[in-house]
Amino acid sequence: MSFYMPTKIYSGSDCVIKNASVFKNFGKNAMIVTGKTSAKVCGALDDVVKALNENNISYSIFDKVLNNPTVENCYEGGKFAKEIKADFIIAIGGGSPLDAAKAISMYKTNDISPMQIFDGEQKNKPIPVIGVATTAGTGSEVTQYSVLTVESEETKRSFSTPDTFMKIAFLDAKYTESLPMSITIDTAVDALSHAFESILNKRSNIFSEVYAKESLKLTGKSLSSLVKRNLTYKDRENLLFASAYVGIAIAQTGTTVVHSMGYPLTYYKGLTHGNANGVLLSSFIKGCDNVNHKLVSELLGYLGLNSINEFDKMLNTLLPDRKIITEDEAKLFSEKTIKAKNVSSCPWDITQEDEYKIFLKLVK
Ligand code: NAP
Ligand code: ZN
Repeated sequence: MSFYMPTKIYSGSDCVIKNASVFKNFGKNAMIVTGKTSAKVCGALDDVVKALNENNISYSIFDKVLNNPTVENCYEGGKFAKEIKADFIIAIGGGSPLDAAKAISMYKTNDISPMQIFDGEQKNKPIPVIGVATTAGTGSEVTQYSVLTVESEETKRSFSTPDTFMKIAFLDAKYTESLPMSITIDTAVDALSHAFESILNKRSNIFSEVYAKESLKLTGKSLSSLVKRNLTYKDRENLLFASAYVGIAIAQTGTTVVHSMGYPLTYYKGLTHGNANGVLLSSFIKGCDNVNHKLVSELLGYLGLNSINEFDKMLNTLLPDRKIITEDEAKLFSEKTIKAKNVSSCPWDITQEDEYKIFLKLVK
């Protein structure tokens, strides 16, 4: 059993501005990594720029990160980081910019080909990354994982090293207030999926379980607001902290088959990451129920729900569109995803036939 989480967290209203002086510990030349617009829209970019100016730190912005970033997209960011001689990175965004920043920090210090990022520990340590979360779901600000789309393999792959944890994570719920409702829902469902996949995981341990269960309890407090699509600031904060809590848990355990089975739904069918997990989650929980009914009931209880059916109904309200693939795709996807690494941490010995049957539930 082990537990490792080296990221320093600052949370609460205006935490970037209130802790502006921490940026000066990382150098004089920053690279801001973000997506097209969200950092501007949610106010995080203004706060970060103000904090940098206060500390006389120069900065350049790379705002080209794609949703579900590709390896090439991050490699381009790595070239930019080299050109501007960045001392450190500030990543602002959802999981996509945060994961991209981890890859960019590694490309900055290592002369490797794009795909060599998956070779494990590199010769040189990456430059430090500081993360400002603007979605509440992936927990990437407190995990070592960077999940990248690999076009040549038509799927996603992740890399991680102990050095890819962020040095600092800022959690200010005000940045998540500008999220459209659909992204709020999809990302909250991603965090829910992390919690079930972490606790019901062969690699779960007593420490990771504490964080994952607390995450479910926090989400439980705001679940009815989410279903009603009417969130207060407090709800947004609950969801943001729930996402970070369970991020700390998956940093220990990883995820399992919901995530690997979700990748083709994102790659081929264009579902967002959270939505892809959401349409598979009830089936996973049903499978786990056969193995450990008591634990599954306990977890549903944290959400104020009495059965998997109630859970499924709730998910159906959040993500009504679930008939999205063909029978051929169900077969193809199960052939592909049964080979994923994290299949081994599924609590039962899942077979391709099991995965096929789960995918069949999504057939139009
Ligand atoms: P995302 O892809 O980062 O963002 C989705 C969309 O939301 C983007 O269009 C983004 O705009 C917009 N957005 C973000 N914050 C916003 C805000 N505050 N206001 C308005 N719009 C906002 O979504 P995500 O679900 O957070 O991240 C998904 C990625 O994370 C996937 O690639 C997934 O594989 C990965 N992931 C990583 C981990 C991990 O441990 N590292 C765990 C789970 C998932 P912009 O285009 O302007 O950015
Ligand atoms: Zn996820």
